Amino acid sequence: MAFDKLFMNARFDGGARHHIAVKDGRIAALLPADAPAGDAATVDLGNALVVPGFVEGHIHLDTSFYGDAWRPHKPCTDGFDVSERVAFQAQNMALSAPMDVRARNQLDLCIINGSTQMRSHVMVDGSVGLKSLETILRVREEYRDLIDIQLVAFPQSGILASPGTPQLLDEAIGLGANLVGGLDPASFDRDVEKHLDVVFGVAGKHGVDVDIHLHDMGSLGAFEIEQIAARTRALGMEGHVAISHAYGLGDIAADHLKTVAETLARSGVAIMTNAPGARAFPPILVLRDAGVTVFSGNDNIRDSWWPYGDGDMLRRATTLGYRSGFNTDEELRVAFDVVTESGAKALRLEGYGLRVGAKADFVTLAAEHVPEAVVAVPQGRAVYKAGMLVAENGRMIGKAR
Ligand SMILES: [Zn+2]
Repeated sequence: MAFDKLFMNARFDGGARHHIAVKDGRIAALLPADAPAGDAATVDLGNALVVPGFVEGHIHLDTSFYGDAWRPHKPCTDGFDVSERVAFQAQNMALSAPMDVRARNQLDLCIINGSTQMRSHVMVDGSVGLKSLETILRVREEYRDLIDIQLVAFPQSGILASPGTPQLLDEAIGLGANLVGGLDPASFDRDVEKHLDVVFGVAGKHGVDVDIHLHDMGSLGAFEIEQIAARTRALGMEGHVAISHAYGLGDIAADHLKTVAETLARSGVAIMTNAPGARAFPPILVLRDAGVTVFSGNDNIRDSWWPYGDGDMLRRATTLGYRSGFNTDEELRVAFDVVTESGAKALRLEGYGLRVGAKADFVTLAAEHVPEAVVAVPQGRAVYKAGMLVAENGRMIGKAR
């Protein structure tokens, strides 16, 4: 078999050594490490640990100030208030660099750190209409050879609270958004049924997946999760729905959690957590043991919600592991799985992983194995997309623009 490129001396987690043969941007074969190169162009990976490209499962390409002027964080008047934060965001956005510039900054940051797959939420609501989405769609097209991006039409100002939003969400899908989003049906829109009618209505009409932001805590959050799960089952959308944050799962009683986790597993609803700050967050092992897919993302990076975030999903795995009290190799591998294979499952990615037939999207790491990589977060990575070097040592390679 003729290959386009042979990546020699790749070391997989667990110690197996392979040459990775690539044809048409896909892994055509995993050859023994002593196989001859033949006529293919070769790249010697020098026995680096090779892992699949990271899955950035939740980010906001339209609202980051990364690479722009530093914007000091403004606290809410009293605790944490989604409406007030949305208002701060609108003030900040009016003063910021153009959205396309900021989105490119953030994409470069994610790519140099090894993300080859992404799901970004983009504001679609009565305040910004479809403008943000149009900008991010253009930027996505520019980056099509560097990273695969799913876009969620995200009603940041609510659906019922923001006039015109149901229609805009519908139009957003026609324009090129891949999923429909939602935002705190109870606390923000104050009508769970009507909010979910719109979200699942748009999803059903267009045959797209759903990813809902849910910050509500405790039993209110758990109630909304059950409502979303019930809708998912009723529409036969198992495997096509995700709930982002789902903080409520982190602060309900253990027996209640068990019931909700079983409901989520039965409904095929995935949970996204980035283990943020000092908040309660979904217990990763409990959910996984129940059969729930748990994935992750950086979420906000230097935006109006918080100043943190570095676009590095490997460091996100560290945070997930640290906040979950993960210490054993097996647990550290769970943290890594959340930012790789589980992300691919939640995003329903075609051709993911270090396997024959998959896209040749991978990252080299200076680490002995995955558990060490999760705690050491080694730099000096090389990032390959479809067998092409797109970033090395923290720099983008040969980007045309
Ligand atoms: Zn978010």
